[in-house]
Amino acid sequence: MKVPELFASNVFNRQIMQDKLPKEIYRSLLKTIDEGAPLDMSVANVVANAMKDWAVEKGATHFTHWFQPMTGVTAEKHDSFISPTKDGKVIMEFSGKELVVGEPDASSFPSGGVRATFEARGYTAWDPTSFAFVKDGTLYIPTAFFSYSGEVLDKKTPLLKSMAALNEQALRILRLFGNETVKRVYPTIGAEQEYFLIDRKMYDARKDLVFTGRTLFGAKAPKGQELEDHYFGAIKTRVSEYMKDLDEELWKLGILAKTKHNEVAPSQHELAPVFTSTNVASDQNQLVMETMKKVAGRHGLYCLLHEKPFAGINGSGKHNNWSMSTDTGMNLLDPGSTPAENGQFMLFLTAVIKAVNEHQDLLRLSVASAGNDHRLGANEAPPAIVSVFLGEELEAVIDSLERGVKYSDKGRKTMKLGVDTLPELPKDTTDRNRTSPFAFTGNKFEFRMVGASLSLAGPNIIINTIVADALRTFAEELEGAKDFNAALHDLVVRELKENGRILFNGNNYSEEWAKEAARRGLLNLKNAAEALPLFADKKNIGLFERNGVFTAREVVTRTDIMLENYCKVLNIEALTMIEMAKRDIWPAVNEYIETLCNTARSKKEAGAAAAADRRLIQKLSADNDAMFERAEALEGLLVEGKACGTPALLAAFFAEKVIPVMCELRMYADGMELDTAAKVWPFPTYGDILFSM
Ligand code: ADP
Ligand code: MG
Repeated sequence: MKVPELFASNVFNRQIMQDKLPKEIYRSLLKTIDEGAPLDMSVANVVANAMKDWAVEKGATHFTHWFQPMTGVTAEKHDSFISPTKDGKVIMEFSGKELVVGEPDASSFPSGGVRATFEARGYTAWDPTSFAFVKDGTLYIPTAFFSYSGEVLDKKTPLLKSMAALNEQALRILRLFGNETVKRVYPTIGAEQEYFLIDRKMYDARKDLVFTGRTLFGAKAPKGQELEDHYFGAIKTRVSEYMKDLDEELWKLGILAKTKHNEVAPSQHELAPVFTSTNVASDQNQLVMETMKKVAGRHGLYCLLHEKPFAGINGSGKHNNWSMSTDTGMNLLDPGSTPAENGQFMLFLTAVIKAVNEHQDLLRLSVASAGNDHRLGANEAPPAIVSVFLGEELEAVIDSLERGVKYSDKGRKTMKLGVDTLPELPKDTTDRNRTSPFAFTGNKFEFRMVGASLSLAGPNIIINTIVADALRTFAEELEGAKDFNAALHDLVVRELKENGRILFNGNNYSEEWAKEAARRGLLNLKNAAEALPLFADKKNIGLFERNGVFTAREVVTRTDIMLENYCKVLNIEALTMIEMAKRDIWPAVNEYIETLCNTARSKKEAGAAAAADRRLIQKLSADNDAMFERAEALEGLLVEGKACGTPALLAAFFAEKVIPVMCELRMYADGMELDTAAKVWPFPTYGDILFSM
């Protein structure tokens, strides 16, 4: 296999476009892709036809508008290219209109009440900046999804809007620095995707994995991750065959899968692609997650993308590496070597710091979900408190700017922005803070709170919008300045002072940090039920409207959708627990107790001691009773919850009332697992699942 030939072989990318399209058509399509120029229908017709011919050569018979409804996963409806002819045959056809707009029957996607039945139609519109591709005999066309009345129904449209907002404001800043050549600024993402790989037979034998993607029961195995022997360990043959297959599938789709390794927990792995433009990275991450699952099937494996599939060992995240690039190849978070470049870098850096400080709520809630609640704040992922890590070098620079004193002891003069140059920043400081939720890593920020199964769209809509908004206020102030360098210096110093409380270089897992953060007035939103309602806060509606990302109505409906999703997930988990407790664990333990009773009786008849049997009988009977009682309590709570009037109230009810009972139920079940004969236990244990390969 030759990788360069394989790479993007199933993607209708620039090179294929250039090969297959007439010159003028290609040029006018590029104007649409690169500059957002409207697409002429005559051009669309030619593009569609070329795309179809190319796709048919690749074995495609169907096309689909591929979109991202608010479920967080992708949706597709396949139409074939066939068109009947007079003589009873078919030809393969695909028109510009079919390429550009679609009309899936959209009435069953979550819309938070946006779509009344009279306007039930949803439309999809081609996003030409994300390339079409062929997969499993179908031509996939990445699209945005909206309603008849123009309301946005998906995760992609607001992502594109947030990118546009960032572009507009970043360009204003670049012009202030005298840069007239850059035409476009776009955010970039490289997303490190963590996942678990388990034997398919184990998965099939666990209803909790099947229904909820995580184990709701399971006592700790004798071994966990304490030996740290899995992290970067040698990859087992079966897993490495899977990874090889996965890489090839992703390469065909033009995804730059680059790094793969074992993660901290047993059976946990990671895949990182090379970064690319945000909307493409977001689309591609959806394909990565889907392909991970699909390829696992071929290897008799199952891929778990849940944030916390197993209690007691690490969960899975998706590190969101974020920066801003220009069409001229500049990374705006790369510190430069001249005073002007440094000033520009410091201004963009300050904008990110201001954005994070002023919108901790949004960043926190953009990653809030029932699954991710198990991670954030537990001792592995970053805490639920949002803060920024800059590293010692940059903190020292800031310090010298703020105090107007010497930078470090190395004989530097007072730092003056726009006049002095920054000291060399070590690109890859070895003491990079792994515990920080939002860390500067040399030329990009790494947002580490994103959950493994989440769509990248949510958090990146937020990052792009809040940074755009900070840049807007900077541009407004600086555009009127008489002495630009002096104004720049004052602004940066002032903003760093005002937003300095968000900076933290220490251990984010420590209890002292939680206390210190509270003193600083930083938010500590413990769970999704607390965080999500803040989305519809007045401050946030103003922010989204000002930047053209969401309307007030969209914000309100999205808040309800997110809260409802949280409640539905927990409802399914509770129901699954009840079912497993009452129908699997309860009878299994009772049977075992009966065996023990018979044994004890026989032993007694034989005159042998049966003290241990009797103790175990007592203990298991009491625990099984207690578990059953919790299952019934849970049933009662689910009924009681129906009286909660709003999604926010119901979410709070789940967080405060339902989850504690689920935890108790699990505690009894896990205890009994350790006291019950292995052959009687109704499903595979953690040891079976995590150490079977
Ligand atoms: P780690 O040490 O956390 O594994 P790496 O340096 O390997 O980090 O990079 C992780 C990810 O960051 C990769 O996906 C990489 O492509 C991405 N990345 C690098 N530069 C940028 C950038 N300018 N913008 C966005 N992502 C980037
Ligand atoms: Mg990382």
